[in-house]
Amino acid sequence: MPQQAYVMRCGSCGARNRIPENRVGDAARCGRCGSAINTRPLTIGHPIVVADADFQDKVLQSPLPVLLDCWAPWCGPCRMMEPFMDELAAEWRGRIRVCKMNVDENPRTSSRFHIQSIPTLLVFDNGQLRNTLAGALPKHSIVQAMSPFLKS
Ligand SMILES: [Zn+2]
Repeated sequence: MPQQAYVMRCGSCGARNRIPENRVGDAARCGRCGSAINTRPLTIGHPIVVADADFQDKVLQSPLPVLLDCWAPWCGPCRMMEPFMDELAAEWRGRIRVCKMNVDENPRTSSRFHIQSIPTLLVFDNGQLRNTLAGALPKHSIVQAMSPFLKS
């Protein structure tokens, strides 16, 4: 079987770099510009909590495409999606970063992306908003929407 590899963007030049599975955790360098690439995010298999203060760092500068779940604790449909967002974070470990942001606590980012209702899922890649999925969705619809971002 061919060895599995991950693809991470370089934080300096944006080049896509292949990281073989057995090198995750090692020091890596960008093939184009030589900048150091931190491969530790590849090992995270649970949703990452994002706030206004670290949105830039965790979402826009992410070396991986990002699925950002905009939610609030009082939102029933949001909480129904929670178990499979956890599953997706584990299934997509090293390929797509799954993040969660509480909209009530983070008004700056919520208004920047015009979030009118929750749940809303925002998809980012290479610092750009690439897709918006509004409303509660079944897991398979989310998987389908993210399939263009899963190929390495
Ligand atoms: Zn680079």
